[in-house]
Amino acid sequence: MSVPPSDDALISSAADDEAPILDAIHKWLERDVRHRVLELEHGDVYPTAMIEQMKAFGLFGATIAPAYGGLGLSASTYARIVSLISEVWIALPGAFNTHLIMAATVERFGTAAQKRQFLPRFATGELRGGLALTEPDGGTDLQAIRTRAVRAGDHYVINGAKTWITNAIEGSCFALLVKTDAQAEPRHRGMSLFLAEKGPGFRVGRKLEKLGYHGSDTAELFFEEYRVPTDRLIGGEEGHGFAQAMAGLELGRINVAARSVGLANAALKDSVRYAQTRRTFGKPIGEHQAIQLKLAEMATRCEAARLLTESAAVAYDRGERCDMETGMAKYFASEAALANAEEALRIHGAAGYSKDLPIERYYRDAPLLCIGEGTNEIQRIIIAKQLLARNPV
Ligand SMILES: Cc1cc2nc3c(=O)[nH]c(=O)nc-3n(C[C@H](O)[C@H](O)[C@H](O)COP(=O)(O)OP(=O)(O)OC[C@H]3O[C@@H](n4cnc5c(N)ncnc54)[C@H](O)[C@@H]3O)c2cc1C
Repeated sequence: MSVPPSDDALISSAADDEAPILDAIHKWLERDVRHRVLELEHGDVYPTAMIEQMKAFGLFGATIAPAYGGLGLSASTYARIVSLISEVWIALPGAFNTHLIMAATVERFGTAAQKRQFLPRFATGELRGGLALTEPDGGTDLQAIRTRAVRAGDHYVINGAKTWITNAIEGSCFALLVKTDAQAEPRHRGMSLFLAEKGPGFRVGRKLEKLGYHGSDTAELFFEEYRVPTDRLIGGEEGHGFAQAMAGLELGRINVAARSVGLANAALKDSVRYAQTRRTFGKPIGEHQAIQLKLAEMATRCEAARLLTESAAVAYDRGERCDMETGMAKYFASEAALANAEEALRIHGAAGYSKDLPIERYYRDAPLLCIGEGTNEIQRIIIAKQLLARNPV
């Protein structure tokens, strides 16, 4: 039976420069995290101590260039780290995913002053936050957002509302997508991205109660006559916000794909172990062919999801446009995570339904991976559009 490599094998086969950080994170997960997840997750408690530890590892600067104080990791190494942590709890890499998308948009599109001013503070995690795109009337159809920024001298005045924003409560700075020209055609030409720090006129709304992904804070944000200096417009020129946000989501999709690989692996590993110890009709359930078929499918999904994620990360590291590759990885890996979570639940029988084991958590957490960073319906549309565009007749 093909089982994905153990964490130890993964660490020893890692490139020389990434092995020490993978090893340190692995030890931390086993020493300080794994035994605490059940309690924190069931209570929907923000894991403050773990966030601080991830800050100390430099993970809030994982993909930020060393020139700005980050670790400058490749997307490939980043994805391995995210998968490793996600085998234990997907909420943890969720906290730095959206933060690093914000950082990536500044690093790629920001002015020299914005890079100097923000990236070092993002890298240490001193200034943390995320991406504020979604609104009550605009999720998939982001060009329908209503939040407006109107220029008033050396400031813009922003009014509007965002919802489903990760890190909204604990974070303090957000890449905020707004309309600077509501009449522009096509609509995306009237959209801009600002670095918005909490202050007067920037209010956090209610914390949203969720099926899973507990421990990650998700809330509404409100902007009421919120004034932001003009030098916080990413890149310094109006009309590029939509393209900047979409480019940032390529890294976000690698994170979601890698988190999905971690969750799919965790469901498989727990199931292999259970299939060897739980006995029915005089033998371990792993000796029943019906269970073997499930394990084989789960292992194959894990391997395929991992390879797609690695290949998307390699494309990202080459600096190519990779919305098709990251879309494929995110789509396939998240569906693999969802399918593996369900199969793990079936293999565990009533034990899988119990709150004493993590299986029911996998089952509640996995659907988010199919929704976040663009739903899987939209991923398939992106893949198909790129396929057609890259293969003209
Ligand atoms: C836990 C959590 C955390 C989140 N964190 C953030 C965050 O930090 N920042 C942020 O900006 N957003 C965040 N989101 C929002 C998330 O990005 C959106 O939920 C997602 O993009 C989908 O938007 P929607 O929920 O409005 O669904 P809708 O856009 O209303 O879609 C509803 C359904 O219609 C389908 N659909 C829509 N348009 C099409 C189409 N053209 N073709 C085919 N099918 C279509 C969708 O796939 C979906 O199945 C978060 C969401 C969750 C659940």
